[in-house]
Amino acid sequence: MARKKIIAGNWKMNMTPSQAVELINTLKPLVVNEDVDVVFCVPAIDIIPAIEAAKGTNIVIGAENMYFEEKGAFTGEISPEMLTDAGVKYVIIGHSERREYFAETDETVNKKVLKAFEHGITPIICCGETLTQREQGVTIDFIRQQIKIAFLNVTASQAASAVIAYEPIWAIGTGKVATTKQAQEVCKAIRDCIAEIYDAETAEAIRIQYGGSVSASSAPELFAQPDIDGGLVGGASLKPDFGKIVCYNK
Ligand code: PEP
Repeated sequence: MARKKIIAGNWKMNMTPSQAVELINTLKPLVVNEDVDVVFCVPAIDIIPAIEAAKGTNIVIGAENMYFEEKGAFTGEISPEMLTDAGVKYVIIGHSERREYFAETDETVNKKVLKAFEHGITPIICCGETLTQREQGVTIDFIRQQIKIAFLNVTASQAASAVIAYEPIWAIGTGKVATTKQAQEVCKAIRDCIAEIYDAETAEAIRIQYGGSVSASSAPELFAQPDIDGGLVGGASLKPDFGKIVCYNK
């Protein structure tokens, strides 16, 4: 069965609750595409108003982060149950900005992935190399390691439902998009790695996004690649251009 594309916006630390509602109202008529699952990953404080504003549309609301414990003395964190109770379906795990600025590691990514599955939240698991790693020729090795650790103790059926976002760090927020060849090559390597960990069926089912300066002009070619099942979009997800990205095939 063909994999359905999934295009997710990552708002990062942008949009107050009232701005979030305004943006969803602007974007909702522009992001209608039955061929695509459309997800807006928004700051924690925007989740409830965003879900309210997205009611009756095809937009599904996701979170940008989640802690791996159930509850308790973890000041400032947000629990899986808080997300599910609010109606969140997806959560970004291990974005490179969280790894760089908030000390997330492959091990905490794995804990969060397991916890998300335990609560029925689909993780969007981020991986990606630095420019130095790309220049050193270790991209695939590095990404395989990230994937292997992220999926420790994850079952095949859980893995089949997961989303992986391949985001070369040098392409995030820089305007530098990976070439379609580079993006396809790594996304294929990720799928091969999933086949090795699990089996061909799981690898066929899992959805792999590309992220890194995706724009309305780069989206059609990127998303036409055999192993790229959509995108994780930062900057452009805050603009009407996101509608063009979601409707890349129209
Ligand atoms: C991101 O934050 O995941 C991202 C890909 O950002 P941008 O599209 O702005 O490069």
